Amino acid sequence: MDQELWMKSIEFHGHECPGLAIGFRACQIAKEALEIETLEEADIACISETEKCPVDAVRFLFGCTEERNLTIKRNGVPAFSFMNHENGMGIRVMFKGIKEELDREEMKRKILQDPWEEFFWLMDLI
Ligand SMILES: [Zn+2]
Repeated sequence: MDQELWMKSIEFHGHECPGLAIGFRACQIAKEALEIETLEEADIACISETEKCPVDAVRFLFGCTEERNLTIKRNGVPAFSFMNHENGMGIRVMFKGIKEELDREEMKRKILQDPWEEFFWLMDLI
């Protein structure tokens, strides 16, 4: 993972937490799935189903803002739909949760580094 980008995301968010890790990883998954080359140049719209910590990663990494290309539906699900306006691809990324008993530090590490298929669920948007 990109440690420098993670540190900058923490700076943007104001603290380090598992929630931010969820959003950070969701953005990484979306970047790959939607064939985005560079985050800075991406033309992405996002619908976030949570207003909590994870959405700050979407704000920071994709530059999404509520004035422009970020919609927040407060239904408390850690799920994000990303649309890539450049190629018309779309995906919904949902965090399923982790069944193991882990402390915050371990949880964060796992979310950022372990194979995501274990705890994220992906669905193509048509
Ligand atoms: Zn947080």
